[in-house]
Amino acid sequence: MPQPVRTVIVGAAGRMGRQLIQATREHPALQLSAAVVRSGHAATGMDAGELAGVGTQDVVLRDNLEAALGEGRVDVLIDFTLPEALAGNLESCARYGVPMVVGTTGLDDDQKAALTEAGSRLPIVFAANYSAGITLSLKLLEMAARALGDDFDVEIIEAHHRHKIDAPSGTALRMGEVLAGALGRNLADCAVYGREGRTGARGRQTIGFETIRGGDVVGEHTVMFLGEGERMEITHRASSRMTFARGATRAAAWLVDQPPGLYDMEDVLGLR
Ligand code: NAD
Repeated sequence: MPQPVRTVIVGAAGRMGRQLIQATREHPALQLSAAVVRSGHAATGMDAGELAGVGTQDVVLRDNLEAALGEGRVDVLIDFTLPEALAGNLESCARYGVPMVVGTTGLDDDQKAALTEAGSRLPIVFAANYSAGITLSLKLLEMAARALGDDFDVEIIEAHHRHKIDAPSGTALRMGEVLAGALGRNLADCAVYGREGRTGARGRQTIGFETIRGGDVVGEHTVMFLGEGERMEITHRASSRMTFARGATRAAAWLVDQPPGLYDMEDVLGLR
C-alpha cells in the first residue's frame, strides 16, 4: 500500500477551506494532516472535520502554519486564503520544502512574481479555477479565438456570490489572457473593464469584461464572440464549490511526484 499523501489545508475555516477538508477526506490518496486558520481565529482548537460538517477527523484547527510544518508530517499544502497571506505561506513552504497548491485569486503583479520565483525552488500548482470544465473551456476559447480572429468582438461576462472581494474574477482574467494571446494582443493594452456614459463606439481590438455580484452564485463565466450576423457563446456554470475542491485535491496528489516548477491545471489534467 502506498503511503497516504499528508495534506495541510490553509484557510481551513473559509468557504473553500471547509470544502477542501471534505474533498481531502474523500480523496483515496490524501490524508488530512493539519488544518490552519488565520491567527486568533475563533475556530482554533475545534476539530477540522466537525467544522466542515463531515464528522470528527482527529485534526485540530491551529492558527500557526510554521508550527504545523515544523512537525514534519506534511507532503503537500493547499492554500485558498487571501492575497496578503500568500508571501508568508510561500516562505514557510520554501523553508520546509513543501509543495503548494495555490487557489487564492486577486493576486497583484508582485504576488504573481513571488509565485513564479518560488516555482524555481518548489513544485507549485496555481490555477485561478480548479474545475476540469473551466480548464477545458480555456482550451476551447483558444481554439475559437484563433479560428474567428479579429472579425469577431470578444466579451467576457462573469457572475459570483455577493461575498467575493476581487473583480473581475481570476478566471475571467485568465480567460482574457488566453484570448488575447490567441489573438496576438496584450491583455493590459486591450482590456475594457465595464462601460458607462458616452463611451464612443467599441474599439475593434478590445476585450470587454462585465461583472455581476450577488446572492450565492458559485461562479459563472460566459465568453461571447460577436460577429456580423452570428454570435457564439461558451459558458461554464459551477453549481458547487466541491468542483474546485476536488480539482485542488487532484492537483495535490499529482504535485507530490513533480520536480520544482510552476504548473497549472492543464498540466495536472495532461492537456499540454
Ligand atoms: P473565505 O473568505 O471564505 O475564506 C478565506 C479564509 O482564509 C478565511 O477563513 C480567512 O480567515 C483565511 N485566512 C486569511 N489569511 C490567512 C492566513 N494567513 N492563514 C490562514 N488562514 C487565513 O474565501 P473563499 O471563498 O474560501 O475563497 C478563498 C480564496 O480562494 C479567494 O481568493 C477566492 O477567490 C479563491 N477561490 C479560488 C478558486 C479556484 O478554483 N482557484 C475557487 C473558489 C475560490
